[in-house]
Amino acid sequence: MERTLCIIKPDAVRKNVVGEIIAMITEKGFRILGMKMIRLSSQDAGEFYAVHKGRPFYNDLVEFMTSGNVVVMALEKENAVVDYRALIGATDPAEAEEETVRKRFASSKGENAVHGSDSVENGIKEVAFFFSERELIG
Ligand code: ATP
Ligand code: MG
Repeated sequence: MERTLCIIKPDAVRKNVVGEIIAMITEKGFRILGMKMIRLSSQDAGEFYAVHKGRPFYNDLVEFMTSGNVVVMALEKENAVVDYRALIGATDPAEAEEETVRKRFASSKGENAVHGSDSVENGIKEVAFFFSERELIG
């Protein structure tokens, strides 16, 4: 079993599509181990996306991720990382496949509705960034 972290980003929360996105995720067989709605601080967002520090879009990314509430979910499934990335689609919605979350709900490459971990290792790290083991159902 693998773990991956989903963040429903502020644009999707503002569009009131949290329920539809959760339905798309659970229909694909992911189990939700933990879920919460929070508002990220600049420090949280900056640390979470630290790998992108120095890239031209970094400041906009931090600003966007702190612009409203987000829903974070720890997901579990076999091949969770690859299967969830397939479900959300390409970073830029213009390049995302039909029926993906980003094709349906993202507005742009910056405001792209959801986050997904990009490796098994990062899935474990990112779940631990937001959840203690006690908060995850067994
Ligand atoms: P995420 O990590 O949010 O799941 P991703 O893995 O598809 O997205 P990354 O390359 O990790 O894409 O970029 C992280 C986020 O930074 C993207 O989701 C997007 O919001 C933003 N971003 C990346 N590249 C650009 C860009 N060229 N212009 C604007 N925003 C960008
Ligand atoms: Mg990424």
